[in-house]
Parts: sequence; structure tokens; C-alpha cells
Amino acid sequence: MKARPDRTAWIKGGCAHCDIAPAARIQPFRIVLIGPPGVGKGTQAALLSGSLDACHLSTGDVFRAINTLPPSELTPTMSCALREMRAGKLVPYETVLSLISERSACLRCRGGFILDGFPRTFAQAVMLDEMLSGQNVRLDAVISYELPLKQIVSRISGRRTCSGCQAVYHMESHPPKTPGLCDECSLPLFQRSDDRPESVRVRLEVYEQSTAPVVDYYRRKGLLISVPADGSPKEIFEMTLRALEQRPKTVASKNGEVAPRKP
Ligand code: AMP
Repeated sequence: MKARPDRTAWIKGGCAHCDIAPAARIQPFRIVLIGPPGVGKGTQAALLSGSLDACHLSTGDVFRAINTLPPSELTPTMSCALREMRAGKLVPYETVLSLISERSACLRCRGGFILDGFPRTFAQAVMLDEMLSGQNVRLDAVISYELPLKQIVSRISGRRTCSGCQAVYHMESHPPKTPGLCDECSLPLFQRSDDRPESVRVRLEVYEQSTAPVVDYYRRKGLLISVPADGSPKEIFEMTLRALEQRPKTVASKNGEVAPRKP
């Protein structure tokens, strides 16, 4: 796998620029990943980003970066967003709107993008549509990863993240070589506060209520590709690439319904 594109502009927002220019693609991929917590979206986003040269735009990573700021640098809006995140709830719509608006140039990235964790509600899906059409950019596909509830809970409870490079491990299926330490940068691994059992329950409920309707929204638009997330990260990645290659090419009409693209 190639190195992942630089995403400084996305993580920092504001006036930040990426230090390394994205590789230009004639037809960049613009993809949204959807799926319940613990399904492995972040891992797949990283693999797809390396393989397609598209930038990994994760809203969760932006909130986690904010979480590392000293308390004196947190605005009241940021503190409120972090409280909601720790409880496993969704961050308020207005906060997400301001976060994405500030980073909207990333949607025009010439390498394309893999959106991970956004949109998460019907209102956010409409927000994304408006932003994309304002920038004359279209989505290629929305990939929905699917996994039974029992496996989701087991994946989340064993997940550990590196405090340095954010690499993700699993206590059983992908343990680090030295217990508790990252293979890449040797820094300690930690359990995300929203991966604790009390937050996980809330996150799964939130997914069913708020995010499942987003899947229907994209199905109606003809953009949805369902991928079973049962397998190793490599197997799921290969299935995703195959599904992307084989996806029916469609065009959306003015009312958002789809028609087959003419040959
Ligand atoms: P993730 O890493 O995508 O699971 O996101 C971690 C947490 O960040 C979520 O449980 C939410 O609290 C918050 N978050 C991330 N993306 C969004 C979003 N699009 N809308 C609302 N909250 C979000």
C-alpha cells in the first residue's frame, strides 16, 4: 500500500494547508463510508486512502484532535462537542456544519476523498449534497458496511488506538507485538473513551435512529453499495475495491432519483 495522502488541512481546519500536495487524478474517487460503530470504517478508509490516493476525511479524527488541545484553547462549542462525544452521542448539527464549512476546500481535493463518519443524519446528508453541488462535485459511491450486532460489540470492546499515530489494534484479532505499545511508534495504546461499554450502547442506538435513514437516502439516489464487513481487514478491503469496480454507473435526475447512465 502507498503512503496515505497528507491531511493537515482537514485535521487542523482554518488556514492550515497540507504540506504535501495531493497526487492529481484524472478521475478522483469521492466516496462516503457508512456503518455502525466498530464495523471497521476507519481501517477501510485508511486502506482505501492509500490505494486510491484519496484523502481520508474523518470527522471523528477531527474531534479526537480537538480532544488533545489544552483546556485553555477549547471554545465553549468545542467543550460541548467533546462532552457529547464522550457520552457516545452525536455532536450538535451546528457544530458539524461549522466544522465541515471551514474545511469545504477538502471536498475539492484533486486526489478525491473518502468521507468517514459524515454524514451521520438525514440533515447532514442534505448538508453534504448542498456543499457538493455548490462546488460542482459529485459523489461516486456510498459504501455501507454491514455486520451483526454481536460481532460489533466484540470488535469495539477489544479495540485499542495508538496515542501517537492513531494506528488501530484489536486485543484478539490484531494485537500489537509488545502488549500495550504501538508496533509503529512504540507509544502507549489506549481505549477510546467512547469505546467503553456505557458509550457503546448509546452509539449503537444513535446509529439505528439517526444514521440508518441515511443508508436509505443514498439507496434511493442509486449510490449505495452494501459490503459485508465480516472478514479480515484485507478481505473486506478487496471486496470493497471489487464492489467499486463493478458498481453500476448511474446519473441522478433533478429530483434526486436515478436513471441508468446511457452507454
Ligand atoms: P467516529 O470516530 O466516526 O466513530 O466518531 C466519534 C464520535 O465523534 C462520534 O461518536 C460522535 O460523537 C462524533 N462525531 C463524529 N462525526 C460526527 C458527525 N458527523 N455528526 C455528529 N457527531 C459526530
